[in-house]
Amino acid sequence: MKKNNQLIFCPLGGSGEIGMNMNLFAFGNDDAQKWLMVDIGVTFADDTLPGIDLIYPDPGFILDKKDDLLGIILTHAHEDHIGAIAHIWPQLKCKIFATPFTAVLIKEKFKEKKIEISNYLKIVDLNGTVKLDPFVVEFVTLTHSILEPNGLCIKTPVGTVLHTGDWKCDPNPLIGNTVNEKKLKEIGEQGVLAMICDSTNVFSPGRAGSELDVRESLLKIMSKKSKRIIVTSFASNVARMETIFYCAKNTGRQISLVGRSMHRIYKAARQCGYLKNVIDPVDPRDVKNISREKIVYLCTGSQGEPMGAMMRIANYVHPDVIMEENDTVIFSSKIIPGNEKKLYKLHNQLVKNGIEVVSEENEFVHVSGHPNQEDLRDMYNWVKPKSVIPVHGEHRHMAEHINFAKEMQVPYPVQVENGDIVQIFPGNEPKVIDKAPSGKLYVDGNISVGEDSQSIRERKNLANNGYLEVTIVINNKGKLIKKPIISYKGLPVENEKDEFVYDIEDEVEKISKTFSLNNAKQEKNLIEALKISCRKLIKEKTGKKPYTNINLVRI
Ligand SMILES: [Zn+2]
Ligand SMILES: [Zn+2]
Repeated sequence: MKKNNQLIFCPLGGSGEIGMNMNLFAFGNDDAQKWLMVDIGVTFADDTLPGIDLIYPDPGFILDKKDDLLGIILTHAHEDHIGAIAHIWPQLKCKIFATPFTAVLIKEKFKEKKIEISNYLKIVDLNGTVKLDPFVVEFVTLTHSILEPNGLCIKTPVGTVLHTGDWKCDPNPLIGNTVNEKKLKEIGEQGVLAMICDSTNVFSPGRAGSELDVRESLLKIMSKKSKRIIVTSFASNVARMETIFYCAKNTGRQISLVGRSMHRIYKAARQCGYLKNVIDPVDPRDVKNISREKIVYLCTGSQGEPMGAMMRIANYVHPDVIMEENDTVIFSSKIIPGNEKKLYKLHNQLVKNGIEVVSEENEFVHVSGHPNQEDLRDMYNWVKPKSVIPVHGEHRHMAEHINFAKEMQVPYPVQVENGDIVQIFPGNEPKVIDKAPSGKLYVDGNISVGEDSQSIRERKNLANNGYLEVTIVINNKGKLIKKPIISYKGLPVENEKDEFVYDIEDEVEKISKTFSLNNAKQEKNLIEALKISCRKLIKEKTGKKPYTNINLVRI
């Protein structure tokens, strides 16, 4: 071992925000440094970004080092951990390591982009090991809100790091094994330089709770309902899906899956050997032959997504699912912060139509997939890390997680944000030593654009201010030879449309007369003058200053 070897951790996404996780590890010296990427996720855009659905971390820093990137290791199949893979991989072309269920969902993403990934995608057994010299990565089965969540024990020649990924302690996860406590204790006994750990629920006391408890509660709730039941939850939570199958069977009902991702996840889970002992779901189109007392629907759209199945059902526009007074809708999911408005609108709409709404606000119908304080305490006690680096949280979560680590007597907690380069070795105390470039890319149609992209700025401008277009036709002597053509969108002139157009025509003619247009520079000046005066006039008339485009045609 050369004496100047260094072990580095660098988050490019997911530290300072919940979403778009992307983490890097590096080992080596100035002559040779090898990199690993752990997770490559997305975040979903909100209404402040018109036309944008997906955001992912700017991978520029690692693209520069792609020849030394040994592979991408995926902890689990949530979108905030895998969602960007098919967007970024074509620039990296490295190996991908995932457990079977995650691998099935990854393959679909590449298939959609018509990329053949088989030669690069390496399937890892649960609790399996991947050797990527100088790293040895051991997958450690944990519990979470999806199948096959893995912590990663990353061994290097100078010591071990545990990257927890997303996890909680679920004593009865219903599908899959419980937390591999034995392995975590072994790792702890051998010594852990640093634990990179989930911070999502650090403010929550007690435990995250178990899927079994949710199952028992849901069964009680559902057995009291006599009419149609519609359950909505995250499709990716296969244990929850199995619970709804179980409750349907035990309340003498049939089950029907509604929504594309519900079918997709059901298929992927079956393909990997899960959900083998559940009743067969009924195609939603065939449910019309079943009375409303005898059916449970499980559908997507638990966050009130406008195009989600739940919203379409509530709006009575779903082609296959109808709803009547006294039916029940169960939101077996978290009300994700930021989605309250959309969701409460949906709840209100249902209640107004005589539908009973059951959610985590009035019944026990959901548990989180992330560790509460008592779960964290267990993990700390098993692993006994020298340093804790909180990730998977907003700044407030990560600061609180630092306090928690200090309370737990962890010698060297390190607070990071995206781009921080943490030196874990050498030195007794891991610390931030440098800053890598980091940022976000927005998926705009088929193109990924930067945060200050012109396309998004223009759309925001158009959305807020409206649009005016003026076309003037000019002869070779520089005189207007026709009335200017005016068109506009999104301006509040409902009742005075004609007058509005006449006034702009007059203004354009008046300004145009003052220019002689002998050369290109004067044309440019006229266009600029028209832009300014039209916007001023419209501001006076309507209070709006529209995005304005002037076309000058010479004939
Ligand atoms: Zn997750
Ligand atoms: Zn996550």
